Amino acid sequence: MDAEQLRENAHKMVDFIADYYKNIENFPVLSQVQPGYLRKLLPDSAPNRPESLQDVLDDVQAKIFPGVTHWQSPDYFAYYPSNSSIAGFLGEMLSAGINMVGFSWITSPAATELEMIVLDWLAKLLKLPDYFFSTGQGGGVIQGTASEAVLVVLLAARDKVLRRVGKDAIGKLVVYASDQTHSALQKACQIGGIHPENCRLLKTDSSTDYALSPELLNEAISHDVAVGLIPFFLCATVGTTSSTAVDPLLALGKITKSNGMWFHVDAAYAGSACICPEFRHYIDGIEEADSFNMNAHKWFLTNFDCSVLWVKDRNALIQSLLNKSRVSKKQTFVPRNTYHSASEANMVVDYKDWQIPLGRRFRSLKLWMVLRLYGLENLQCYLRNHIQLAKHFEELVSQDSRFKVVAPRKFSLVCFCVLPPCDKEDCANKLNRDLLDAVNSTGKLFISHTVLSGKYTLRFAVGAPLTEERHVNEAWKVLQDKASALLQSL
Ligand code: PLP
Repeated sequence: MDAEQLRENAHKMVDFIADYYKNIENFPVLSQVQPGYLRKLLPDSAPNRPESLQDVLDDVQAKIFPGVTHWQSPDYFAYYPSNSSIAGFLGEMLSAGINMVGFSWITSPAATELEMIVLDWLAKLLKLPDYFFSTGQGGGVIQGTASEAVLVVLLAARDKVLRRVGKDAIGKLVVYASDQTHSALQKACQIGGIHPENCRLLKTDSSTDYALSPELLNEAISHDVAVGLIPFFLCATVGTTSSTAVDPLLALGKITKSNGMWFHVDAAYAGSACICPEFRHYIDGIEEADSFNMNAHKWFLTNFDCSVLWVKDRNALIQSLLNKSRVSKKQTFVPRNTYHSASEANMVVDYKDWQIPLGRRFRSLKLWMVLRLYGLENLQCYLRNHIQLAKHFEELVSQDSRFKVVAPRKFSLVCFCVLPPCDKEDCANKLNRDLLDAVNSTGKLFISHTVLSGKYTLRFAVGAPLTEERHVNEAWKVLQDKASALLQSL
């Protein structure tokens, strides 16, 4: 890489990205293209001769941008946010610049050590128990996604119980969660060889605000034990994907403890809010957990990807994920030196043994930069502002008798629906589906949906870094206008 060419081209790229952010409100938030649109616009083969950066950027503008859904648009209110920030962006840039592959300590000591320090900082902000810190038996590790986080802890929990009961008992292992749990858990069970019938998704309803009931869990476990099955894993959620339900960690944790089970807490979205003292109570009971995960790339100003996982006992994770094959040992090309004795004496962390892949990026840089360039106070203000904007939206919905808020708002998500003139469920579902399609096809905002108690429900998730009150008001106006038109046509 020629340093001067990098300087010239990277400056152009930064200008291009800055202009993108400057104009981001002018793009339709949800891409409006049809499947296969891009093949019609690009050549069949890669070029034989180099092209200029300007030509590529022109194509990005003309051909790529129409197929982009603009997650950083201030009018983006779908799913959960995926935050970017200048700090997160600069961290990504620096990581790309250094471009190391830090699978073990020696391959870049700073990458491993910074990750440990930054996750200890974050654990401190969240007031996590001491054993999640790298100075205790556990520690933190950055995974790509919450799905990878739940997979690796499920594997650790599975192997831990199988060491006790024998490998042949794998068909008897049972996993528990609520029916609101993210489907990443079922995927983890599928990969982890858990029998599909042994993944219990316990029913929730509006009487518990869609949180998992400890009584139901107790009953399910007792029933399974009575028929010779082996309960071994519970995944609770703080801030479910559907409606931000919060499972009662303390009560659930006591049940898992008395049954010798692994207790994982998935706070992929809502975990960030728990750095604010007024929201920390949502993870009360975390001291009962064996593992805890939050996505800094969702709502913590850290560019994708950065999913933070803490475990109480790092050895349980390592026992499952250490590559024990002879080939792997032969492939350890690193010359014997002080690192080996340190590694063998367990004095250094080799993060390759805490994750599925071998190679890993220097992701802690961007999280470190976010923490340093914002500071706790600004991060708290940032989160509180989104929660305030969601509260404002909730008030707007409540003031219009044609709409209804259908689940309690805890963080920055509002679940609501438009009420049909007839009571029939089919009619209500169709009306809300039509409303979603109508507003999203304007390109002026993007919202998503869920299904709660069988009812098609609209979700308005505030969380894009550029969103201000005016964007919420404008979005509400579009929703009202489209609802009026649909209601009139009935
Ligand atoms: N868990 C929860 C509560 C989520 O909301 C999501 C995604 O929205 C996930 C897990 C999956 O996240 P990821 O894409 O990081 O695997």
